[in-house]
Amino acid sequence: MIADYETLSWPKFRDLDRDRTFLILPVSSTEQNGPHLPVGTDDYILQMFVSGLKDQEYEPDTNLLFMPRLSYGRSMEHMDFPGTVSLRPETLIAQIDDIVGCAAEHGFRHVILLNSHGGNTGILFGVAQAWQKKHGIHVYGIDLSTLWPGIEAIPELSHIPVPREIHAGEIETSLMLYRYPELVDMTKACTAMFELPGWQTGWSTSDFTSDGVMGDAKAATPEKGKLLYDFMTEKAAAVLRELMASNTGRPARA
Ligand SMILES: [Zn+2]
Repeated sequence: MIADYETLSWPKFRDLDRDRTFLILPVSSTEQNGPHLPVGTDDYILQMFVSGLKDQEYEPDTNLLFMPRLSYGRSMEHMDFPGTVSLRPETLIAQIDDIVGCAAEHGFRHVILLNSHGGNTGILFGVAQAWQKKHGIHVYGIDLSTLWPGIEAIPELSHIPVPREIHAGEIETSLMLYRYPELVDMTKACTAMFELPGWQTGWSTSDFTSDGVMGDAKAATPEKGKLLYDFMTEKAAAVLRELMASNTGRPARA
């Protein structure tokens, strides 16, 4: 069964085979994405992939349940731009801790964090091990940005310098143009190309750009968005299939 978590009744949850059930918790953000994109961009992109992943084929007799999304994240780097909402790291950690804890209390063994915002990545993947240990449950992570490598093999996308596509650039703007064109104003799109040094932590977007774009938004097209969407959905589905196949029947960690 592939379903939205919130559509099931409690007896249906009671009867699910815990060894063959995987809960996906989608996590995004609400933050500035340049003058041409809405503050919900990471969340819209997440919704796009959630719906795409629901249409894929997975292991037979397994259950994949998509939980209600967390649409706020840790976006402190964008706080110089109005409209951004940033949770304190401890708030984000506490929410997921509670959700994973409830899943564990009801006997579930596998929670997959599907994350669309880079500012969440370090927190989610850094704390996953602690959640696993505390709740005796497997916590996995799929970060949408880890699906980008490989696009260089697609001729129309091979020019995109992935390390310099940091935020609201060609990739994210193309995805938005493909699925939510009415929310994109390309007359306001701009380009700011640079690569963050590896040692650069704790940066603010306004240290580098006054309009909030870190990438080449001007080069975005809906056609590139479709190519990106198809490539990333297929790659994410392959990761999910592998994860489910190698963990089906695997007991909890406790
Ligand atoms: Zn983001």
